[in-house]
Amino acid sequence: MYEIIDGKQLAAQMRVEIGQNVKKFKETHGREIGLAVVLVGDDNASQVYVRNKVKACEEVGVKSLAYYLPAETQQEELESLVSSLAADKAVDGILVQLPLPKHLDSERVLKLIPTEKDVDGFSAENIGKLAMNTECLVACTPNGVMKMLESKNISTKGKKAVVIGRSNIVGRPMALLLINADATVTVCHSKTKDLKKECLEADIIVAAIGKAKFITADMVKEGAVVIDVGMNRDENGKLCGDVDYENVKEKCSYITPVPGGVGPMTITMLMYNTYVAAARRG
Ligand code: NAP
Repeated sequence: MYEIIDGKQLAAQMRVEIGQNVKKFKETHGREIGLAVVLVGDDNASQVYVRNKVKACEEVGVKSLAYYLPAETQQEELESLVSSLAADKAVDGILVQLPLPKHLDSERVLKLIPTEKDVDGFSAENIGKLAMNTECLVACTPNGVMKMLESKNISTKGKKAVVIGRSNIVGRPMALLLINADATVTVCHSKTKDLKKECLEADIIVAAIGKAKFITADMVKEGAVVIDVGMNRDENGKLCGDVDYENVKEKCSYITPVPGGVGPMTITMLMYNTYVAAARRG
């Protein structure tokens, strides 16, 4: 019998706790916690993400400073804005919504975000610190996955975990977090020779591929924990994950659904990181 890890419920519970911490911070420090969100251009998906981030800030009592810049913004203008936010004492976290329009160099822009304000946890410094298992700001989606595992007291110690995907924002930091949590980790990707064989050995599978219903029941060991990071559209245009949920669930001890699984945790972890960044700065 499988159990669903309900990301929506956990995210709601965490937002209440974060809201309480934010309130306490304001009382003890006599100032607001500020998150600057920079959006360049009019990409629809990015606009929705930014709107949701601003909404989450309101929910937990973080002051959001949203900057909407036109698509034709030049590199120098954007760099000047990010540099001023980097120096601004009222700003605890800076987030530049990706992807940026093609004429802009995102690497140069992201480098201007100080490590301690990098609430996305994407910087080389934060990834490096994560690799060294020292204090850092951790990328939101994989950190949300760890919170989901913790919420069900799912131990990772000595477990065989298979992460499918090696992107800088999901797969790679996910693998590092699992290593730091004492799992034995295998990272799979498009060049992996026998994905099914690797998956069948896994106690924990984290799928971050971007291919609808790619992980099928024959790839999953009886009793495995399956975490689905994917956000795709199926043949009917319906939101679905990387896991063939309906067929895989019966084999699992725990599984995350899509929607309502990892997705709602990501923005919540952004709020968590913003609070942590503020608390560390004082
Ligand atoms: P990405 O950068 O495209 O990375 C996908 C990874 O999957 C790559 O490492 C790729 O291997 C691997 N892959 C592709 N085809 C494969 C195959 N046939 N077998 C094994 N591995 C394969 O994607 P991402 O940004 O990490 O995102 C992954 C998924 O998570 C997407 O559906 C995305 O929408 C979703 N996502 C969800 C959230 C959330 O909040 N829930 C947040 C971020 C992302 P190579 O490296 O060899 O190309």
